[in-house]
Amino acid sequence: MFRTHTCGELKIENINTLVTLAGWVQTVRKFGAITFVDLRDRYGITQLLFGENLNTQLNAQPLGREFVIRVKGKVSERSNKNKNIPTGDIEILVDEFTILNKSAVPPFTIQDDTDGGDDLRMKYRYLDLRRNAVKRNLELRYAVNRSARNYLHENGFYDIETPFLIKSTPEGARDFVVPSRMNQGEFYALPQSPQTFKQLLMVSGYDRYYQIVKCFRDEDLRADRQPEFTQIDCEMSFVEQDDIINMFEGLVRRIFKDVKSIEYNETVERITWEDAMWNYGNDKPDIRFGMKINNLKFPLYTFPAKTGYLKNSPLENETGFKVFDDAETVLAICVSNAADYSRKQTDELIEWVKRPQIGMAGLAFVKMNKDGTVKSSFDKFFNEDQLKNLAGFCNAEKGDLILILAGREERTRKAMSELRLEMAKRLGLRKDDEFKLLWVLDFPLFEYDEESNRWVARHHPFTSPKPSDINVMINNDPVIKNAEKYLEHPYANIKANAYDIVLNGNEIGGGSIRIYQKELQEKMFAALGMSKEEAQHKFGFLLGAFEYGAPPHGGIAFGFDRLCAILGGSESIRDFIAFPKNNSGRDVMLDAPSTIDEKQLDELSIKLNLK
Ligand code: ASP
Repeated sequence: MFRTHTCGELKIENINTLVTLAGWVQTVRKFGAITFVDLRDRYGITQLLFGENLNTQLNAQPLGREFVIRVKGKVSERSNKNKNIPTGDIEILVDEFTILNKSAVPPFTIQDDTDGGDDLRMKYRYLDLRRNAVKRNLELRYAVNRSARNYLHENGFYDIETPFLIKSTPEGARDFVVPSRMNQGEFYALPQSPQTFKQLLMVSGYDRYYQIVKCFRDEDLRADRQPEFTQIDCEMSFVEQDDIINMFEGLVRRIFKDVKSIEYNETVERITWEDAMWNYGNDKPDIRFGMKINNLKFPLYTFPAKTGYLKNSPLENETGFKVFDDAETVLAICVSNAADYSRKQTDELIEWVKRPQIGMAGLAFVKMNKDGTVKSSFDKFFNEDQLKNLAGFCNAEKGDLILILAGREERTRKAMSELRLEMAKRLGLRKDDEFKLLWVLDFPLFEYDEESNRWVARHHPFTSPKPSDINVMINNDPVIKNAEKYLEHPYANIKANAYDIVLNGNEIGGGSIRIYQKELQEKMFAALGMSKEEAQHKFGFLLGAFEYGAPPHGGIAFGFDRLCAILGGSESIRDFIAFPKNNSGRDVMLDAPSTIDEKQLDELSIKLNLK
């Protein structure tokens, strides 16, 4: 028998029991004739005491870090207790030991605060995985997985696998492709998601489907993306948006409860995409804190409904301050209790917004001093009344620091969104242990791609327009005659029957009610610039299926890795994946991707033409 107990389970009540343990040597400490060893396994650490009687054997067979050993001995109360570990009251008085396997000296210490840098830890990921920190992450991942499966099972969902070798139909990201030896010159693609399969399952009548499934996207990896990642992918038939929202809000509440013991009973706020952009500058706002954006000036095409708002703005007329007068957009946030920022601090903020990632030319500010006086960085152009007027418009209070950005609409809004998050971080308002969910609804159905001069689907081509917009889509020609004026095209305002669920400023899931009528789906493909033949070639199977009684359906997919990372209080999804890739999409442990043999290429009739 290799072991009677694990290294995490022996307590004071086990005293005098004879036990056998097996595990890895974490540390060896010699004190004269006695030797202490910390023995580690998945469950914990137990202290071993090797007495004088074992010295000869220890000298002949010295133990080193990460050796795998088995010991037999008696559980005994420790004189020097360690309150930090569950087994800290006891130790094992070792009677005999066997070295099951030796270990080379590990390239970094297998401890919570390791001395191994990122690259080293990735190269020896199997050692990194022995560390508590990483192990806890994988445990959490499994807990989320189990919780999701239980909930979905209880709600009548079937887990149905879908193929990994499919047809390449790139829309959005690039496909990973796989050459076929048996079908020379032809390629499979790895699925970017099981989207069309889950829709086909709805056509087949499996009206509640889920899968915790790998997806593959050959994208340039922005920070914290992985070329292969995992989704909790779901689809339901005979549902409307509210049905999906209720079902999957339930899923997240259940995960909170099972994994974090949090009863998330509060109503989850729902806001439109337009309101998200207006108030927070992005479509996945962090609402753990307020600090909403004040729109002092903006081009009307972005928010046609807000005309009246513009009329009341203190910047409605020329102010003499060119930075504001010449700008397309001027946005402000009020930072509480920051009016006493020093010159050094405001200078540093100015540098912050000028960083290339943010890309603004500068930052204006108004200090609402506690004594009621007002001071700004543009005092030359604004008198006190004007400043107070501006502050009033922003609902600023005494003690607030108003930060103002001005420039082109898109960049300025994005920059303000970043600045809002940054200020919240500095003020400690983004707490890892606070969770705030939010639904963002009514996304635009289309985006305009200037490069290819055509509409692209913002979510994916299977997303239905809002019922009230279906006729706008059917009755208008998608062709854009005047590219510059695409925002005036009726398609620019069509809203999608789509929803994202946001947690602490991260999109953790997104989905839509789907198109299920063949004609509307054909219209969608045409709107995206696909000819009838092309649509048939790429998606003939789906159009065909829609001829045989497709039910109304919709679904959602959660980014499983990201969800785990947020629940684990981390920014990095890599820490929650057993064998992740680095930022260049490489697996540094396997050293993949790699070249393949001439023979393999030959079998595939592939000739490389490297540039
Ligand atoms: N398949 C979609 C995605 O991967 C999610 C969905 O619409 O269900 O984003």
